[in-house]
Amino acid sequence: SVVTRFAPSPTGYLHIGGARTALFNWLYARRHNGKFLLRIEDTDRERSTDDAVEKIYEGLNWLGLDWDGDAVSQFDRRERHAEVAQQLLDEGKAYYCYCTPEELTEMREKARAQGRTVAYDRRWRDSDATPPEGVKPVVRLKAPLEGETVIEDSVQGDVKVSNDKIDDMILLRGDGTPTYMLAVVVDDHDMGVTHAIRGDDHLTNAFRQKVIYDAMGWETPQFAHIPLIHGSDGKKLSKRHGALAASSYRDEGFLPEAMCNYLLRLGWGRGDEEFIPRDKAIEWFDLDGIGKAPARFDTAKLTALNFDYIRQSDDARLAELVLPLMKAELGEKFNSEGESWLVAGMPGLKERAKTLLELAESASFYMRALPFTYNDKALKLMNKGNAKELLAQFVASLDTVSDWTQENLENAAKSLAEKQEVGLGKIAQPIRVALTGSTVSPSVFEVMAVLGHDETVRRLTSEPE
Ligand code: GLU
Repeated sequence: SVVTRFAPSPTGYLHIGGARTALFNWLYARRHNGKFLLRIEDTDRERSTDDAVEKIYEGLNWLGLDWDGDAVSQFDRRERHAEVAQQLLDEGKAYYCYCTPEELTEMREKARAQGRTVAYDRRWRDSDATPPEGVKPVVRLKAPLEGETVIEDSVQGDVKVSNDKIDDMILLRGDGTPTYMLAVVVDDHDMGVTHAIRGDDHLTNAFRQKVIYDAMGWETPQFAHIPLIHGSDGKKLSKRHGALAASSYRDEGFLPEAMCNYLLRLGWGRGDEEFIPRDKAIEWFDLDGIGKAPARFDTAKLTALNFDYIRQSDDARLAELVLPLMKAELGEKFNSEGESWLVAGMPGLKERAKTLLELAESASFYMRALPFTYNDKALKLMNKGNAKELLAQFVASLDTVSDWTQENLENAAKSLAEKQEVGLGKIAQPIRVALTGSTVSPSVFEVMAVLGHDETVRRLTSEPE
């Protein structure tokens, strides 16, 4: 059965590319009722931090990409890595190399001058020279000297490299710590990984990893190296193109399901389907649909998807998501009793919001405590002509509204407009300002229906600050 994994290095935040890699692995595992594992590649002790590990968990949790079992720490497995290196030594497939840094530098310079990719001249391979004293040896793999190494990649097809391009890579450093190359292979094998879906920046590593698999007689997982994400200008995605951390999209008011849908489309496709909710994504995801060309990150597309997902979201959930934003924004003016109005008013609000931040802003009048502070536009409107008088007359006419519906409220305003021979807007606008403190809002009749009689009257008769 299928086992995939996401293997981030905890050196910063969970970035967009990593989130997409995680998503593809997650989808593939879920599609095949397999397992999706998480391995934290924390062997670089200088650069790995607990905070970064937390951020990875947080990002995956936000996106709803749950992993099976506990996350594995690569660093915790270092003894096992050393054990495998020892096995390769015992089997004569690896050897100690006692070269000094100076010797290696010399070899590198020579190789560069001669245009060779493999620098190390294998001088300790099959050597019976006496080891120098006081030098802690590294362990190197005896890479094949002839032939070629082939990766059958699900995205890239068969990729071959001539073995004279593959060096006798280091497996264990002088201090006994494993290299990344060894650790990845041992972990993927021990964790039973069947499919490794990852960025194509790892393709060259794959050849070297294949050589280690072969030396151990282990089966190589099916590789799928996906093209990296580019920015709108076609260059590799970087900070210049905007936010890179997955969590910054949460902070900008994107829904996780919109983000996942977008990340899926970023490099994977099925005809011209754009809106692909999770259940469909699980049903449809395959490795064939991964594109060979780098996809371009397009904030406008992400935003369009977010708009669609917001409109389709459950009202109570949306309210729950925007409440903390409004609480922070309103401070002392936050009226927690407004929550039921917020939920009831959500259908009219969510139609217009492209992000949760926009939604929070447009919805905040439901949660704002009286008295309101009018902005200049609202103040002007209220002080113009007989706006206040019309408002007072409207309030008086509300006594005749027996059934508090949007329609009846609209009719009440209409008959007042007729009686006073003014346009409906002349009445609706002051109502809007009094109800919301602003000159823009959803339909005032809808808002009044949501607020109910008592709160409507309270607002319509309240003086601003
Ligand atoms: N730790 C590697 C990275 O963060 C991933 C290695 C792999 O997927 O094999 O890029």
